[in-house]
Amino acid sequence: MPHCILRIALDTPLHAVFDYRWSGAEAERPQVGHLALVPFGTREVVGIIVAISEASEVAEEKLKDALAVRTQLAPLPAQWLALAGFAAEYYQRPLGEVALPGVPKNLRLSTTVALDRAIKKLAKTTIGHDPVPVGMPVLNAEQQQAADAIGGAEGFAPMLLYGVTGSGKTEVYLQACAQVLAREPDGQILVLVPEINLTPQLEGNIRARFPGVMLATLHSSLAEGERMLHWLAAHQGQARIVLGTRLAILASLPQLKLIVIDEEHDPSYKQQEGLRYSARDLAVWRAWQLKIPVVLGSATPSLESWHHAQSGRYRKLELRERAVKQAVLPAVKLVNMEHDKPDGGVTMQLKAALRQRLERGEQSLLFLNRRGYAPVICCEACGWVSDCQRCTAFMVLHKGEFKLRCHHCSLEMRIPRHCPTCGNVDLQPLGRGTQRIEENLREWFPAARILRIDADSTRRKGSAQEAFDTVHRGDVDILIGTQMVAKGHDFKKLTLVGILNPDTALFSQDYRASERLFAQLMQVAGRAGRTAQAEGGSASEVLVQTRYPEHPLYGALVRHDYDRFAGALLAERGQAGLPPYLYQAMLRAEAPELAKAIGFLQAARDCMQADTIAEGITINEPIPMSMTRVYNVDRAQLLVESPSRPALQAFLKEWMARLRDMKSRVKWSLEVDPVDI
Ligand code: ADP
Ligand code: ZN
Ligand code: ZN
Repeated sequence: MPHCILRIALDTPLHAVFDYRWSGAEAERPQVGHLALVPFGTREVVGIIVAISEASEVAEEKLKDALAVRTQLAPLPAQWLALAGFAAEYYQRPLGEVALPGVPKNLRLSTTVALDRAIKKLAKTTIGHDPVPVGMPVLNAEQQQAADAIGGAEGFAPMLLYGVTGSGKTEVYLQACAQVLAREPDGQILVLVPEINLTPQLEGNIRARFPGVMLATLHSSLAEGERMLHWLAAHQGQARIVLGTRLAILASLPQLKLIVIDEEHDPSYKQQEGLRYSARDLAVWRAWQLKIPVVLGSATPSLESWHHAQSGRYRKLELRERAVKQAVLPAVKLVNMEHDKPDGGVTMQLKAALRQRLERGEQSLLFLNRRGYAPVICCEACGWVSDCQRCTAFMVLHKGEFKLRCHHCSLEMRIPRHCPTCGNVDLQPLGRGTQRIEENLREWFPAARILRIDADSTRRKGSAQEAFDTVHRGDVDILIGTQMVAKGHDFKKLTLVGILNPDTALFSQDYRASERLFAQLMQVAGRAGRTAQAEGGSASEVLVQTRYPEHPLYGALVRHDYDRFAGALLAERGQAGLPPYLYQAMLRAEAPELAKAIGFLQAARDCMQADTIAEGITINEPIPMSMTRVYNVDRAQLLVESPSRPALQAFLKEWMARLRDMKSRVKWSLEVDPVDI
């Protein structure tokens, strides 16, 4: 090959794809999908070859030479490039910004020492080729039916595995995996979980069940070296099962035959910065592209997926009962806080229930989605409150550290000794977070083993896992935690769940708030009563402290009635013209002053308003975001909507081109299918 032109996608702020000349040795013939090292400005960077041609439109004297091609690494397959290409186009981002972050950092170094070492290490690893599972339990009829439907599906087959909490969805996935591994000698399976903290539990299950196949994990807390090794094992087809969080959807899996998305309703599948993608949506696209089955599992499916299941687009597989014989769904009871006034955040009824569990040696869980000691401190003399100077938010009291901390910009300060405005020395914490409840619990139940799990208590690497292990071992009597404890965990000794303060979310402006609250409460309630009731033990129950016991959301919770609740929400969405009956995109802008951000959005609106491409598109008025100021910048947003996804996509493409041409100094970003409105 005398010389050729490589089109290379780079993760650089400018355009995404650049031409380079290649005149290397014949033995190193580059292919599309290979990584290549190229000069960029004063740096050397690694990009992905997305096309190879004979000529370039760039003038000969301006073309630079590519420095090296990583031919020791198999090229990224065409299907992977297609996935990255689709994501770039759909989310309106440059290709390099989508594709490169999908490749581990260590592969993007200018030297290949780490890569060569990893390849050598994997070459020596003996790969199990024995997909026969061990210790499979006998599935119940519904589980078996679901597993067979998944394991036997052919072609593109999206399925919703709708199973109550504790119905044994994991065993269904594992059985389906066994069928696929047995049928496809080189086949790979991708299993996604919403939270890093859920990987060890499932990883353990998979390893125990499939000791003869290689499992790779991909999530953000892997060290770079490990991450490269696991990524390579997937890319080279050695790892037959890949378990990961949302970023794993962008892994290279040349032999992918099945995708499983556990707890598919979970908001964590949506990335909230940079490339704002939905791993669930990309998974469905990937399955469609590869013509393979994809399973979305949940006890509380997202309304989008539920809608598809109702309309027949997704096949619905249902598990109505808990898998463990005699384990029954807990009784959900509402505790009216108007009658049973909480003391220290906990009502008499809940306190009595806690005491009873302690006497019987059973575990309890208190759920409060607010960390810190108190969300704000105030001066009762003059009305001063601990506002953050940089955000539209309060500084949260972290009593143990003697600090006030803003959870949005991380600003910290010592707790003031007296009121900054009037000098009053008696400053009071207002409201309560998990730390304050923990303090109260220790006072009420001095002999109990109490553990708090939230983002503050698990900051150190590995500490979350240790904490969950302690609970599983039974070394905890009362667990108090935020949403971290609400998801997916199979706590076997838990018979009581107390939900402390769920009401605030009932009146949110975000139309998704009630869908989310209901899912969260169903999930946390579902942690109780997962094993057969012990002889003389307590029946499992969930106590919900509320001031609005007549609210329909709580009624549905008491009846464990997701179906009807989801049906009602969908009907409301249909009437109001909201997703999933409508497609949305959100343009956001931020500037030191609100007027500038709004001004930019107004200009962005004006530049499309009169155009024919905006037909069938509603461009709303720019408004300040509900939390307007964060870290000294004001933020505003502009929502566009359309009943047609292709029309919206065409509009966005043109719009983004015009916005880039505006070269505004205001910082802006677009989110397609936004989740926080
Ligand atoms: P889900 O994910 O649906 O909430 P899990 O997969 O965590 O439920 O299963 C709940 C419990 O039921 C686990 O302890 C699991 O070991 C057990 N289990 C699942 N399937 C069976 C079965 N067929 N027989 C006995 N126990 C089962
Ligand atoms: Zn004061
Ligand atoms: Zn702040």
